Amino acid sequence: MHVYLHVPFCVRRCSYCDFSIAVRKRVPVAEYVECVLRELELVRVEPRSGLETLYLGGGTPSLLPADAIATLVTSLLDAFPSTPLLDAVEVTLEANPEDVTREAARAWHESGINRVSLGAQSFDDRVLGWMHRSHDGARIATAVGTLRGAGLDNVSLDLIFALPAELERDWSRDLELALALQPAHLSLYGLTVEPRTPLARWISRGTSAAPDDERYAAEYLRAHERLTAAGYHFYEVSNAAREGRRSRHNSAYWSGHSYTGLGPAAHSYDGRARRWNVAAWEAYRRAIQSGRSPLESEETLTPEQRELERLYLALRTDEGVARSACPPDRLTAWVGQGWAEIRNGRLVCTPEGWLRLDALVRDLTGVQAIG
Ligand code: SF4
Repeated sequence: MHVYLHVPFCVRRCSYCDFSIAVRKRVPVAEYVECVLRELELVRVEPRSGLETLYLGGGTPSLLPADAIATLVTSLLDAFPSTPLLDAVEVTLEANPEDVTREAARAWHESGINRVSLGAQSFDDRVLGWMHRSHDGARIATAVGTLRGAGLDNVSLDLIFALPAELERDWSRDLELALALQPAHLSLYGLTVEPRTPLARWISRGTSAAPDDERYAAEYLRAHERLTAAGYHFYEVSNAAREGRRSRHNSAYWSGHSYTGLGPAAHSYDGRARRWNVAAWEAYRRAIQSGRSPLESEETLTPEQRELERLYLALRTDEGVARSACPPDRLTAWVGQGWAEIRNGRLVCTPEGWLRLDALVRDLTGVQAIG
């Protein structure tokens, strides 16, 4: 089993973020933990299922006090009777750099967290201010050092690229500063403009430029080149890891494995149907506290939808698709253009191919890509 727990709280909303979050100065910790534990009782756990990965994402899970995180991790591990030794389970915590203190890092490690995904985004204070992030660039290195000192060396850094031109963000400098910290893993996300975010408003008022495709492509390709030269392997369109440090949890999503989501807005998938909880924290809390399921809806995927999703997810990764899944004329065209290559009998996207992933999936299936 793979379990995702959504912790919806943030101290403020970042300028580009449209995630399902609840902005709170004070996190309702006891209520949240109680709701999740009650929801856990509603989840039907097969007696023989063990947990392979647990991912606390958000929102900002690191806003929860360490004892609340320990209670959640212990309860979740206990709920899956055949879970192997704790060391064998990948337990990831998403954290913001400003929440990483020596005490917190030590307590996270003791509670079973063995992987931390740090929302670094940039090392430039001006850029971080524009993003409405609450840390400064120097804090990232301090956080990584503190995590390592507490025994947490499986650290991933998130970085955002393709920022508007007026910021004059130095992407190469940010990459170098990230690499200097020698993280086990890096996730790189291109900025997208989502409706109803501060960024969308700035763009509509003309105070910010819309991100442009050329910058996106140039920065994405530069990152590929630099990270590959530094010994990282892009195993998915946005994710690069050192040997043995891939995210097992996210890899399970991309391989089409089933997973269970808990918390507001969390999604679950059993290999056939997808279910999702109500998105707003208050609606989730009310449902749980009045004894109702927090489930908002579900959809059963048709075999065609499952196949399309499988193709799309496989092309996102370095697994690619079987060569036979691609008509010969398409295969020749993609390889000829440098968008894909044949590796061990499979068709795998190159970085240039990953830049046009949706178009390639459309080309392959004649259907608009998902995601
Ligand atoms: S910390 Fe993450 S989830 Fe919270 S507002 Fe910022 S980007 Fe969104």
